[in-house]
Amino acid sequence: MAETIFSKIIKGEIPAYKIYEDNNHLAFLDISPFEKGHTLVIPKKEYETIFDMPEEEFTALVTIVKKIATHMRKTLNCDINIWQNNGEIAGQEIPHIHFHVIPRTQKKKTYCLENKQHYDEGEAEEVAKQLTIT
Ligand code: AMP
Repeated sequence: MAETIFSKIIKGEIPAYKIYEDNNHLAFLDISPFEKGHTLVIPKKEYETIFDMPEEEFTALVTIVKKIATHMRKTLNCDINIWQNNGEIAGQEIPHIHFHVIPRTQKKKTYCLENKQHYDEGEAEEVAKQLTIT
């Protein structure tokens, strides 16, 4: 996997406002926050998407995400969005897996919930069939 700007942050080659670090993870403020306090949580190992990450490491990452969200919620007295994009079409700009932990104090549209669609007659049944895990 090619090195991204996040690897440079991990190595300290470019600056970031770090809010949490352990041997395997780093959390820092998003440079362009949806709301102030918007944080990115990443593993130090370079994986592009959730699909590239071994289960155990993914579980550990999600645990850190919850820890950060819990602290943020308490500290900023806010609601929280957790976003995670996989792939370019899904909006992933930096190909190093990351979770967005976003404090929400203002009711405004979130980009991922804009332009919601509706199902035509019978369509929901078909899609549900396709996606059902047995
Ligand atoms: P995504 O679209 O899910 O790949 O999100 C990438 C995020 O990285 C965006 O929200 C950017 O604002 C953020 N970002 C890009 N460069 C930096 C940087 N140097 N420091 C902190 N956040 C960054």
